[in-house]
Amino acid sequence: MQTLISGANSLRIPLSSEQIEQFRVYAALLAEWNQRMNLTAITDSVEVQKKHFLDCLVGLPLVAEEVGASMPLKRALACVDIGTGAGFPGVPLKIAWPALKLTLVDGTAKKIRFLEEVVRALGLENVNLVQGRAEELGRNRRFRGQFDLAAARAVARLNTLTEYVLPFVRQGGLAVIYKGPNAAEEFMEARNAIELLGGEAVRFAPVVVPALDEERRVLLIKKLRKTHRLYPRQQGLPRKAPL
Ligand code: SAH
Repeated sequence: MQTLISGANSLRIPLSSEQIEQFRVYAALLAEWNQRMNLTAITDSVEVQKKHFLDCLVGLPLVAEEVGASMPLKRALACVDIGTGAGFPGVPLKIAWPALKLTLVDGTAKKIRFLEEVVRALGLENVNLVQGRAEELGRNRRFRGQFDLAAARAVARLNTLTEYVLPFVRQGGLAVIYKGPNAAEEFMEARNAIELLGGEAVRFAPVVVPALDEERRVLLIKKLRKTHRLYPRQQGLPRKAPL
C-alpha cells in the first residue's frame, strides 16, 4: 500500500494504520472477485492504488473546502454514490471519512453483492446498499432531495449524469462529479442541464492524482433550487435525449 500511503500524504489526507488496512482488504477483495466477475479492468495492485483509491480521494480536500470543514473530516454528512460499480468513489471516501453516512447505488445486482462483502469485511458502519436505477430512485421520496452530497465517477456524459445525480441532492448540498480529459467539452454540453435541474457549478477544478500523469477534474455543483418534479425523466431518456 506504499503508493496509497505516500499519495494520501501528498494530498494531506490523514490515514491511520486501520484505514490503510481497510484499503488493503478492499484491494484484495477486488482482485479475488474480479476473477469471477467483471468488476474492474484495473487489476495490478499499484494501478488500483492510483487509478481507484487515490483517484477517488482527490475529491475529498475540495469537498472539505467547499463545506468549510478542515481535514480530517468529522461531520456526519449524508452522501450517495450513483453508479458506484465496485464502490467508486464512495468506498474510498467512506474509509477516509468514517463519519460519512453513505448510500451506494447501482443498477446491477452482482455489484451490490460484491459491496455487501466489502462492507462486511471492512467493518464499515452506516453504509446503505441500494440496487436500482438513478432515474427511478431520484423520483422516490426516500432518496430525492435527501443528501448533502451526491458523487459519481465514470457513469455517463455530464449532461446525462447531471439528471441522474442532482435530484438526490438537498437544497444547499453539492454534487461531486469526477471527470477525465473530456471534462471541458462535456461541461459546455451540460450547462443547460445544470441550470434546469436547479444547480450551479461552483468549482471545476483540475486535480492532480499523485503518481498519475493523466488529466482529471472534479466538478462541484451546488444545488440552489429544488429540482422540478418533471426530472429525472424515466425510461433511459436522460441518456437518449440529454437536456
Ligand atoms: N463509479 C464506478 C463504476 C463505473 S461503471 C467507477 O468509477 O469505477 C458504471 C456503473 O454505473 C455500472 O456499475 C452501472 O451498473 C452503473 N449505472 C449506469 N447507469 C446507471 C443508472 N442509470 N442507474 C444506476 N446505475 C447505473
